[in-house]
Amino acid sequence: MDLTLSPSEQAFRDELRAWLEANHPGALPREEQGSFEFRRAWQRRLHDAGWAGISWPERYGGRGASLIEQAIFNEEIVRARTPQLANVLGLAMGGPTVIAHGTEEQRQRYLPPILSADEIWCQGFSEPESGSDLASLKTRATRSGDGWVITGQKVWTTYAQHAKWCMLLARTNPDAPRHQGLSYFLMDMEQEGVQVRPLRQITGEAEFNELFLEQARVPESNIIGGEGNGWAVAITTLMHERATLAFGLQVSVQIALQELVEHAERSPGSNGRAAAADPLVRQRLAQLMIEAEVLRLNAYRGLSATMQGGVPGPEGSLAKWHWSEVNQALTELAMDISGVRALAIEGDGVGDNNWTYRFLRARANSIEGGTTEILKNIVAERVLGLPRMR
Ligand SMILES: Cc1cc2nc3c(=O)[nH]c(=O)nc-3n(C[C@H](O)[C@H](O)[C@H](O)COP(=O)(O)OP(=O)(O)OC[C@H]3O[C@@H](n4cnc5c(N)ncnc54)[C@H](O)[C@@H]3O)c2cc1C
Repeated sequence: MDLTLSPSEQAFRDELRAWLEANHPGALPREEQGSFEFRRAWQRRLHDAGWAGISWPERYGGRGASLIEQAIFNEEIVRARTPQLANVLGLAMGGPTVIAHGTEEQRQRYLPPILSADEIWCQGFSEPESGSDLASLKTRATRSGDGWVITGQKVWTTYAQHAKWCMLLARTNPDAPRHQGLSYFLMDMEQEGVQVRPLRQITGEAEFNELFLEQARVPESNIIGGEGNGWAVAITTLMHERATLAFGLQVSVQIALQELVEHAERSPGSNGRAAAADPLVRQRLAQLMIEAEVLRLNAYRGLSATMQGGVPGPEGSLAKWHWSEVNQALTELAMDISGVRALAIEGDGVGDNNWTYRFLRARANSIEGGTTEILKNIVAERVLGLPRMR
């Protein structure tokens, strides 16, 4: 892949950079609900200026630009250190899934409010007994009149507390082989049969939730990809999750690394010198720089594969696995440099400039979006072509 930007791609990047500089919304409020609404307002502002859904078709409210321009956007928005967009799951996963598998009516109905952040999306896949082995899920959907009634429990549902729509995977045919008995629903979260209970994480935040479904109702028109086809649709969602996020994440690692170097320069090491003078710290920093560059090149390799095949491939699994290892190693080094000061999360808990917060949040990186072990299996089987385990 040629990594130089064409004149029009460069013009797009320059225009976006200038816009982000002029419109940066400032620092995120600390309080949880306030910070989510801040992110929603920020996404609206981008949308109103024509910067949402860069590669989505114009007829659904997107910009109709290329995947390269989408990748440039994903990089620049992180580089500018703006807050994360509120509808991250709708943008990265829900929208692309509806574009790939939805009917024309569904695309027109659901895509524009994802972009404007008027309707937030969440992902109801994992259950207490089904995470890695997702196809074993038990949430049941049974036919009733002109729709479906759904009963079961989901867990780790990020942003369920803010969401209007849930990408819900449920079993519609318990007699079919397990991958074939699933369907993919868009479930309205604003109904009596849906209860959301927050789960607090090690960082003190409650990003995710338990989801209790007791006779929740979904009309027939809200199945995506047809009854019994839920597994294929869910795979599309997961592929997009890993591939799309990889682009912004490799930039966030490069930024974090610069900050880590500054942290090492400012922090005391041994013999009255800065930590950055310590040969072991320097070796770890150098190794992280090499890994960050590999991450960047692999993100472009994944983009190139998507441009050729039309859909993200399993390379996204490699990128996500590698990113989680690099981010964990990076935050561990930051903690080693901080020494006892790392214990000072109290009172300064949530916030991007806090290494302790980042270290604790990074523990989830090798679990969320597929655990490292599962991603290694995918890479072994689908990238390297090794024999299947089962
Ligand atoms: C921050 C965060 C946000 C999340 N958000 C969402 C969300 O919005 N929606 C959603 O649906 N889910 C969400 N998840 C759930 C996430 O997808 C699951 O946690 C993940 O898929 C693992 O499932 P599990 O927790 O049930 O672990 P398990 O599947 O029980 O795995 C336990 C351990 O066994 C290992 N293991 C399991 N099977 C194998 C195997 N075949 N080979 C080798 N090792 C194996 C795993 O790697 C892991 O180490 C989130 C998780 C986190 C941490």
